[in-house]
Amino acid sequence: MSSIAGAFPVLKDVFGFDGFRGRQEEVVARVLDGRSTLAVMPTGAGKSLTYQLPAVMREGTCVVISPLIALMHDQLRSARANGIRAATLTSADADWRETQEAFRAGALDLLYVAPERASQPAFREFLSSAPLSLFAIDEAHCVSEWGHDFRPDYRLLRGMLDAFPQVPRLALTATADKQTRADVMAQLGIPEDGLVLAGFDRPNIRYAIRHRDNPVRQLTSLMAGEPGPGIVYAQTRRKVEELAEKLAAATGRSVRPYHAGLDPEVRAANQAAFVASEEMVIVATVAFGMGIDKPDVRFVAHVGVPKSIEGYYQETGRAGRDGDPSQAVMFWGAGDFATARQRLAEVDEARRNSERARLDALAGLVETAECRRAVLLRHFGEHPPASCGNCDNCLEQPGVTDVTELARKLLSAVYRTGQSFGMGHVQKVLTGNEDERVRQRGHDRLSVFGIVEGDEARLLQPLSRALQARGDLVATEHGGLALGGSARAILKGESSVEIVIPPKRQRGRRSDATP
Ligand code: ADP
Ligand code: ZN
Repeated sequence: MSSIAGAFPVLKDVFGFDGFRGRQEEVVARVLDGRSTLAVMPTGAGKSLTYQLPAVMREGTCVVISPLIALMHDQLRSARANGIRAATLTSADADWRETQEAFRAGALDLLYVAPERASQPAFREFLSSAPLSLFAIDEAHCVSEWGHDFRPDYRLLRGMLDAFPQVPRLALTATADKQTRADVMAQLGIPEDGLVLAGFDRPNIRYAIRHRDNPVRQLTSLMAGEPGPGIVYAQTRRKVEELAEKLAAATGRSVRPYHAGLDPEVRAANQAAFVASEEMVIVATVAFGMGIDKPDVRFVAHVGVPKSIEGYYQETGRAGRDGDPSQAVMFWGAGDFATARQRLAEVDEARRNSERARLDALAGLVETAECRRAVLLRHFGEHPPASCGNCDNCLEQPGVTDVTELARKLLSAVYRTGQSFGMGHVQKVLTGNEDERVRQRGHDRLSVFGIVEGDEARLLQPLSRALQARGDLVATEHGGLALGGSARAILKGESSVEIVIPPKRQRGRRSDATP
């Protein structure tokens, strides 16, 4: 029997660490005891160690389920570098026969496989040919439809797990809200008392979320204050290329693109150069960063909104793994939410509500005047202090304005113009601009024509953004705006609307004066 006391020398000799971090010790102790566990730990907390160490100590092979071949090969390299006997069985491997023989001979500590392989009956058969020490299920949130990254193959794992009831299970994830956690445990047969939930706070990361008006200028300004390595997430390959080029030109720094459409050699070279660099900035699609072990990323910037709060947390979590001060800055636009909400229509009904809830939660984070960290941590079920002192809203309190009346004017103008025009047109109608198109449509004769004046007019854009983020205004197929969400309740006076006014604008300065 191996126990936690025996783990310390292994921690030192095999992994070269002086002690456990956070709640690693608790997870390792449980696993060494043979108790199935779900470990929810933030990115960078050191989840791999919690199965690799027991894999070294316990008799038999630890089977690791991992969703990405690239991720497996990274893990494989680092495990082997520590002298751990590890192998992968993937379509990218040529040494299947040797791996299988090594397994049968009991000469493997770790065997990495993809879920679609693991769920096959033939694989189950193969596993029964030698002793197993542990099942480690990485990225375990993929098993849950509540999770943000559901993968049907993960559902099929249960059969394999149940075929070896004496082998403990260790499920690992960085991102699981309460509902997802409960679901993961139920799906994988982990007892209710098997949850180890590590804190989600990353105190060295400074969070900021701003409206995007000129991403190149905003990023240039961010990079001017941050000479260290950074990741910029953009939404499409084309935007990745374009931003990488423009940022390189504007800053004179080393900036490289990374996306799935690049030549594999170029992609690998860019990634390797980034990992080795102390100043490079990589512009990438979200796939970049999974499994990359670069502790000194000084900033992560999002141009466009991530898919969910979970995604945001995971992506920003790639900053500052070394514990030094780092920044996470999101530059969002109303169109990001409009597009995401439009896509909801294509999602099948069973998932639509949870997808919508995810977007609403994200909009809440973007549109809050509260401490960003508090909103984030509460989302993960924690009870943080009301203010962190290290996010944009804590450092400079934004204003909150009740704009219910203005919202009613805006929504009724959208309604009266037939819910088919964009914000530019609606704004002209509201402010009484006798544009040719306005006159042609007869919109200068509407009761809403010219009912917004002076200071109020300046709030129309931020209001429209806020309403789009919340889904009270939705984009139509042809780029117009239509009523959605609580629009009718607002019009009827049953619901009020507040918007957050960034501190820069309050003082009458340009909102793009800082990133
Ligand atoms: P996760 O999978 O949770 O994102 P990793 O397993 O990739 O995290 O570990 C993140 C980093 O922390 C790695 O560089 C790893 O070597 C390091 N690490 C893990 N455990 C310890 C420890 N006990 N002491 C020091 N460094 C550690
Ligand atoms: Zn804060």
